[in-house]
Amino acid sequence: MTTHRHHIETKLIHAGEPDPLIHGAVSMPIFQSSTFEYAGQASYHDLKYIRLNNTPNHIVLHQKLAALENAEAAIVTASGMAAISITLLTLLSSGDHFLAQECLYGGTHDFFTKDFAPLGISFDFINGADPDSWESRLQPNTRVIYVETMTNPLLQVADLEAVSEFAKAHGLISLIDNTFASPINFRPPEWGFDLSLHSCTKYLNGHSDIVAGAVIGRADLIRKITHKLNHLGASLDPHACFLLHRGLKTLAVRMQHQNQSALEIARYLESHPGVEAVNYPGLEGHPDQRRARKLFDGFSGMLSFELKGGVDGAERFIQNTTLPISAPSLGGVETLITRPATTSHSGMSPEDRQALGISDSLIRVSVGLEATEDLIEDFERALKA
Ligand code: PLP
Repeated sequence: MTTHRHHIETKLIHAGEPDPLIHGAVSMPIFQSSTFEYAGQASYHDLKYIRLNNTPNHIVLHQKLAALENAEAAIVTASGMAAISITLLTLLSSGDHFLAQECLYGGTHDFFTKDFAPLGISFDFINGADPDSWESRLQPNTRVIYVETMTNPLLQVADLEAVSEFAKAHGLISLIDNTFASPINFRPPEWGFDLSLHSCTKYLNGHSDIVAGAVIGRADLIRKITHKLNHLGASLDPHACFLLHRGLKTLAVRMQHQNQSALEIARYLESHPGVEAVNYPGLEGHPDQRRARKLFDGFSGMLSFELKGGVDGAERFIQNTTLPISAPSLGGVETLITRPATTSHSGMSPEDRQALGISDSLIRVSVGLEATEDLIEDFERALKA
């Protein structure tokens, strides 16, 4: 069904759905078949086969995800890291160079710093908030610029308009990891980005029960990435496709609740005398708040903060909360709490973490769908303890 003129809430339900419905099924059936009857395809890449990511369950998701960000095309992958790694391995070859924002998800940071040098690919980190400093890092072989919509775990917002303008001015391909914002809060293709990357493990699925990824954006690039993905084999299983598809349908109502709840919790924490600092781009005092207001329709359910009691205080706080589950990952229906230094960013050296402002005592919260009042009451009790 074509739903280009509809709001995103409507697209989540109707965009990309089979028309007519398959045997009238209101919910997309799972096509748990590795291979499909030969139908005269001329190319290997057109054969229907789960590893080629082209079963009916994949195709519906590709159409829906592209519609959500008003993009030309999309492809799902076996994980968020598969989306990131296969995209970069498609766009870069030995001898190439790229620019990357310095504060990144720990897995991405680890991938850039450990895995590219042996492939003969180099990169430089850039400060996302300081566009004047980027030109000096360009090299004749620079091909790509890579940023995150909101950085993990400090929730900084780079000058994203400048990133896509800089990419266009210098012939670079612009990539953005849009996991933290989700298409409800930010749609990168509308701001000139070539490709938007997602860990669908997080908000897009929203139920902490699968690992999945997606690349959304220019059709010519998605075609090349699909080709590489077909060879590297990081396709998404049809059952995981079904769960992602089901999760997507409630993305808008989940995200709207999480945006609102995280803002209220950030305001509560900011006003508490035991809290040193709160990182949430929706707060009036956040250094990137003006930029975030211009770019985003909401500020997500992610926040991080520092207590006055250091690492011991942070550990005691986490142990004394009763509702949040102490676990890495994010974007699910349940509130998760973690110290990034011990989980998502443990792959970085303590020196690198310190240089970026990620202290050992930083606490990150992914706000779920519980009643906001109950979470605040729980935090109040844990702060007293
Ligand atoms: N991007 C961001 C911002 C993340 O937080 C994560 C995982 O936490 C990833 C990418 C990687 O996603 P996955 O675990 O689905 O491979």
